[in-house]
Amino acid sequence: MLTSEETRDIFIIGLRNAHAMENQALSVIDTQLSRLESYPEMITLLQQHRRETEGQIARLDQIFEGLGESASTFKDTAMSAMGSLQAMGHALAGDEILKNHMADYMFEHFEIAAYTSLITMAQSMGHTAALPLLQQNLDEERRFQQMLIDGLPGVTEKFLQRLETGQKADV
Ligand code: MG
Ligand code: FE
Repeated sequence: MLTSEETRDIFIIGLRNAHAMENQALSVIDTQLSRLESYPEMITLLQQHRRETEGQIARLDQIFEGLGESASTFKDTAMSAMGSLQAMGHALAGDEILKNHMADYMFEHFEIAAYTSLITMAQSMGHTAALPLLQQNLDEERRFQQMLIDGLPGVTEKFLQRLETGQKADV
């Protein structure tokens, strides 16, 4: 049987992981934005989710504050570096826009799973103050994930059309 202190520690580890995940998201988005040229609709979508992500980090910070904890910066830094490496890896392919889009969709799945698990923990541990904050983060991830998959056919068609007409298509 776990003590309440032990379960609280598990919740805090989950929150720290989510904090690092969101910082990774920021660095992935920034790397993609620094390269995008031909897809203004993707630039707008990513800028919008970047702002949402900053709000998500602020909500996680608010939860830490309520628990008398702080987010550790060590894992955040490591995950940020991994995020930009991952986004740069796609630059070697001719279909960077599509690879990034699919990777972003996959990343949103991970975020949805992370918040679903954290909400369950918060519920079973009675951290009711954290619930609306985590729920808002989850809702934003779901919405963005849906926008990504809804937008993928159009981006793919535009990619093909630009290739066929000899225009820059990769980013
Ligand atoms: Mg997020
Ligand atoms: Fe997200």
